[in-house]
Amino acid sequence: MALTVVVVFGLVLGSFLNVVIARLPERRSLWAPRSACPGCGAPIAWYDNVPLLSFALLRGRCRTCAASIPWRYPLVEAVTGALFGAAWLEFGPTAEFVVAAVLLAALVAITAIDLRHQIIPDAITLPGILAGITANVATRHLNWAEVALGIALGGGVFFAIIVASRGGMGAGDMKLGAMLGAFLGWKIALFALMVAVVVGGVSAVALMALGVRNRKDAIPFGPFLALGGAAALFWGEGVVQWYASGLRM
Ligand SMILES: [Zn+2]
Repeated sequence: MALTVVVVFGLVLGSFLNVVIARLPERRSLWAPRSACPGCGAPIAWYDNVPLLSFALLRGRCRTCAASIPWRYPLVEAVTGALFGAAWLEFGPTAEFVVAAVLLAALVAITAIDLRHQIIPDAITLPGILAGITANVATRHLNWAEVALGIALGGGVFFAIIVASRGGMGAGDMKLGAMLGAFLGWKIALFALMVAVVVGGVSAVALMALGVRNRKDAIPFGPFLALGGAAALFWGEGVVQWYASGLRM
């Protein structure tokens, strides 16, 4: 029952994230005006705005003008619902769940925005860094040194890459790295970075091999960092403990 409520809340929040994803890069207000079809401008009624269900019932088309609704909308809702459900199963009714949900929601929005616009908005990462610090101070999950080192490591790695490559990575990646460090602490953030580099590297090679992208096309790194952050949120603690126990042997 509680799991169902959490998943439904995730779906509804995913619906709000779709507004963030559509409007934040264009610096439009998230609160007004109400959602309208970009094709014909018809306002979207509440019954056509029910997560997943409306997209299915409308078969992915605007009720008024039949313009197709991007798959991004149901996908963001489904992914957010699934991630919230997974976080509930992992953390249960704890402060950690709330922190995980905040981080996951931010990572979903960042992924979709970076894929569409090749930017990672400061409006998410800078409050995100503060939220990570606040969460760890409030819950005492990590001590201040782990958090400070996390921010320095997560941001520093990308700062070094930016300086060395003169633009191979954006400042947005650097702030996202710092945000992951603030939420996860340096050890687990390191795991997140490793996952991002491995999955990102393999994906880049695969995309080039398939001819989808060539060497000159920029492939946004934000989605891989977000994936690494989510993986680290769920499995990082276990991996770090396993690694530490191996070192002691
Ligand atoms: Zn329309």
